[in-house]
Amino acid sequence: MRKPGSKERIRRFFIANIGKVVTSIQIRDSIGQDVSEWARRLRELREDEHWPILTHHDRADLKPGEYILASKPPEKPAVTFSRPISAKLRAEVLDRNGFTCQMCGLCPGDIDPDTGRKVRLHIGHIKDKSLGGKDELSNLRALCSTCNQGAKNITNEKPTTIWLLSQVRRAGQDEQKAVYDWLSKKFQKYPQKP
Ligand SMILES: [Zn+2]
Repeated sequence: MRKPGSKERIRRFFIANIGKVVTSIQIRDSIGQDVSEWARRLRELREDEHWPILTHHDRADLKPGEYILASKPPEKPAVTFSRPISAKLRAEVLDRNGFTCQMCGLCPGDIDPDTGRKVRLHIGHIKDKSLGGKDELSNLRALCSTCNQGAKNITNEKPTTIWLLSQVRRAGQDEQKAVYDWLSKKFQKYPQKP
């Protein structure tokens, strides 16, 4: 027989801590599983069951890796009448974001250094649905699995040109060449609008 599943354990943990700030380490410890497991369970609770679990994307006083179950969750998996994001809208978001995680800059096929797994992109809400955010192009962005959970310690600020150039100049010739090749391909595929 299996012990209570990881999702049940994470549910109980959040219920025991309603209204309190909890950290990713506490969540992970509550289920005793690896990083990707707790992140996936958390995503399911937020997205599939509409639990109002907020992250630093939603509330300025939370740090990356901090979460709060804002209020009592829905009794059972919420019946939702909103349609899932259409394939067309999904494609539009991915295209506009250049198939790149808008937080950490990783692309599908890259290995996420935090999890050691291949990056998969999700469509995330800029303003969370639980806070009234809509399924509209302007409120959607491409995020990798880890960033979608608010589990990566990266600010929302985009790197500046000066910072980017300084990093490229610090890198070795081979790395610089790889950046050049990637940019050449990118701007061939997504020509800059005049
Ligand atoms: Zn990311």
